[in-house]
Amino acid sequence: MKILSADDSLIMRRIVAGAAETIGFETLEAKNGAEALAQLSTHKDDIALILLDWNMPVMDGYEALCKIRADAQYKDIPILMVTTESEKKSIVKAIQAGANNYLAKPFEKEDLAKKMAECLSLEAGT
Ligand SMILES: [Mg+2]
Repeated sequence: MKILSADDSLIMRRIVAGAAETIGFETLEAKNGAEALAQLSTHKDDIALILLDWNMPVMDGYEALCKIRADAQYKDIPILMVTTESEKKSIVKAIQAGANNYLAKPFEKEDLAKKMAECLSLEAGT
């Protein structure tokens, strides 16, 4: 199983991939929400967790979140929003749209790995 990381920042994708590696997961990458949806349709049986950056060109993380949650075949894949929008209303909006958890930037790599592990066990428990 792999983690799908959607972020327009190469540096962020590298950080996510590094953190994923520490908990034993490979990472698939997408530069925007549209690429994330394409990766998802190609690798859906292989994706254990999706990380979505909020601010991305072409299709942002919130729109990707809504599209993923509108598709029943992806309902069991947990979604972790990664955002600089730490305002409460953005977080509430994401949770209401079906995000399982969120992490506000900036964060420590250990916090990211911990949050990803939490999301993965949440999926295993359902
Ligand atoms: Mg971004």
